[in-house]
Amino acid sequence: MPDLIHNLEAVQQRIAMAAHVAGRDTRSVRLLAVSKTFPAEDVRAAYAAGQRAFGENYVQEALTKIEALADLRATLEWHFIGPLQSNKTRPVAEQFDWVHSVDRLKIAQRLSEQRPDNLPPLNVCLQVNISGEASKSGVSIPEAVEVAQAIAALPKLNLRGLMAIPEPAGGIDEQRVPHRHLRELFERLCNDGLELDTLSMGMSSDLEAAVLEGATIVRVGTAIFGARDYSN
Ligand SMILES: *Cc1c(COP(=O)(O)O)cnc(C)c1O
Repeated sequence: MPDLIHNLEAVQQRIAMAAHVAGRDTRSVRLLAVSKTFPAEDVRAAYAAGQRAFGENYVQEALTKIEALADLRATLEWHFIGPLQSNKTRPVAEQFDWVHSVDRLKIAQRLSEQRPDNLPPLNVCLQVNISGEASKSGVSIPEAVEVAQAIAALPKLNLRGLMAIPEPAGGIDEQRVPHRHLRELFERLCNDGLELDTLSMGMSSDLEAAVLEGATIVRVGTAIFGARDYSN
């Protein structure tokens, strides 16, 4: 899969360039390769090229891939980034290392209760509806402080930070605005005493804007694996 290897390098270079412009260490930005809709073999190829963290959106699809790649499990991180219904939390609590898409306290409580005792706490991000779109999931900015405090108190979760999926915007200056708002909220929560280290923001089309505003994890699918085909 030469394209995949080439794409992975190109994305790493985009991250490095944006980090350089921002005066940040490239190593302060992690690349999460979003493998949803792509087969386990593509994940294996990316792994062979050095990629270690992978993001999935659909529980059943992810479980199939996790099983197919069980031989790599000790050194491969699985991040759940899709909408999560409360009746699907158990396999996520049992199989994943991270959940970026915690969008209400009830989901966090279930994940904490269902996280097996022999595993380290599940790393989670609170998803924030940063563009205020009615259709998007995530807590609103005013709700975020209270929900974050409650999640941080749950025993089997480690609240690492915030995640957002901003509305698509044209130029880089416009793209930076919602990312800046997420970073400002992050700073407010840190000032309130929460120990957070993760801003999960930036995708294929806006990762530079996200890195300029402080992203520590960018979630990139299309630019690595190609266009997604949802027909099957
Ligand atoms: C699919 C998805 C991505 C990756 O999007 P691309 O535009 O393909 O890079 C990132 N984050 C979330 C939450 C996603 O669902």
